[in-house]
Amino acid sequence: MSGQFAVFGHPIAHSLSPRIHAAFGAQLGIEIDYRAIEAARDGFAARLAAFARDGGAGANVTLPLKQDALALCAELSDRARRAGSVNTLIRVGDRWHGDSTDGIGLLRDLGGRHGFDLRGRRVLLLGAGGAARAAAFALADAGAAELTIANRTPERAIALAAAVGGVAHARLAGTEPHGFDLIVDATAAGHGGGAPELPAGLCAGAFCYELSYGAAARGFLEHARADGATDAVDGLGMLVEQAAESFFLWHGERPHTAPVYAALREAAAAHIAPPPR
Ligand code: NDP
Repeated sequence: MSGQFAVFGHPIAHSLSPRIHAAFGAQLGIEIDYRAIEAARDGFAARLAAFARDGGAGANVTLPLKQDALALCAELSDRARRAGSVNTLIRVGDRWHGDSTDGIGLLRDLGGRHGFDLRGRRVLLLGAGGAARAAAFALADAGAAELTIANRTPERAIALAAAVGGVAHARLAGTEPHGFDLIVDATAAGHGGGAPELPAGLCAGAFCYELSYGAAARGFLEHARADGATDAVDGLGMLVEQAAESFFLWHGERPHTAPVYAALREAAAAHIAPPPR
């Protein structure tokens, strides 16, 4: 698919997506015109329409626009409909088709990169926002034996558990450690410089996964390691994997994600390294 591509969000200036898609394109010899477009909720529909008029063929959508994007689509994939949010838009004729690649991005990072097999595992999912919804369906589909969902606003956890059904249930009370194999933080608490409040010992023996990355991931990862997690990883790999799935939807080719992930990881490490004395 040729044409223009973009990521919409607010704020968007520091998005890694233009860099990721440029690297995928370079790898596969596909010339990519992919930019970041700042759009708040009230101006998003008009900006997206202007983008389409100017030759926009596909777009990613990030905070806080994923639900708004869903409402602007003429058609939805099953995974977007179930997640209730859209992070990938594909122009088909004069309409937008919406998809959600966050869930598959999480599974590919967890399973492919970190070697975590979800089958038969007891999973705790923190959060019930857009990313948590995509994660919940993906984790259940991948064979988790038990999916417990906890959220600051409990009603949203109850609604999400009911929507997922099967192995999912909401955790409403009780703070005792529970022998989880995997704890996924899909809250936005890290963006405020903190982490969701968790009882001591909850992370002991669990593989802990934080959806955010960079400075926003630090609070949960530090807590998880200090609390006895077997490992604690951020969502940088998920970011690359969800981007690769969007790339495939637009261009029909699958990039190798490992070198792109390695370059971003290296850049992130250089960024957080203390300055030389
Ligand atoms: P939403 O705004 O849709 O949801 C935010 C969630 O976080 C809600 O469950 C909210 O609870 C909870 N929350 C917010 N602040 C706090 C707090 N201080 N303490 C506890 N819970 C809190 O955001 P998204 O679901 O879109 O994104 C969530 C996270 O996932 C973000 O960090 C985002 O960067 C990351 N993400 C990473 C991706 C990747 O590729 N790596 C892809 C998508 C998202 P309540 O319901 O009570 O408001």
